[in-house]
Amino acid sequence: MSGAAYYICPRCGRPIDHLERRVVRRIGKDGKVHEQVYFYARHYARGPNGEVISVNGQPKIEKKCYLGPEKYIYASKLHAALGLQLKGLIEEVVEGRPRLKDYLDSVREAIERQMAETKMSSHTAQKLASALEGLQALTARLRQYAEERAKAEAEAKAKGAGAWTQLDTK
Ligand SMILES: [Zn+2]
Repeated sequence: MSGAAYYICPRCGRPIDHLERRVVRRIGKDGKVHEQVYFYARHYARGPNGEVISVNGQPKIEKKCYLGPEKYIYASKLHAALGLQLKGLIEEVVEGRPRLKDYLDSVREAIERQMAETKMSSHTAQKLASALEGLQALTARLRQYAEERAKAEAEAKAKGAGAWTQLDTK
């Protein structure tokens, strides 16, 4: 099966059985047809041995998680000023790239750039330094969390041997 991979739902942490791509078309104020693509993660109901439970030949959906639009349109002036590249949750799923890491990288680059151009006031620099100390304190807890999640994910993967995400490309 092409496009198959093992994805964890960023909303609920369960394996994604089916990635639904929904296209919504509407007529805008300009009279033209606008298309927006939204993604949903489908989680199938499973029996005690991890088998998918079917109803009328269709997998029974136990849970559906909204993953957001294909493209996030960000109008925030603050984010624009920082030069942040905000990305949709879906990229995290499809590309396996943690969005939050991209944010942190963008923040680091923006801080470095503003320092290099001496565009940052002393007040802002102090505030940022305090905020970064708060983040630093998270590191140990984050590593512990990663270890716990790795175990839970390995168990989920072992249980639902057939839990490979189907990419909906219609
Ligand atoms: Zn989910």
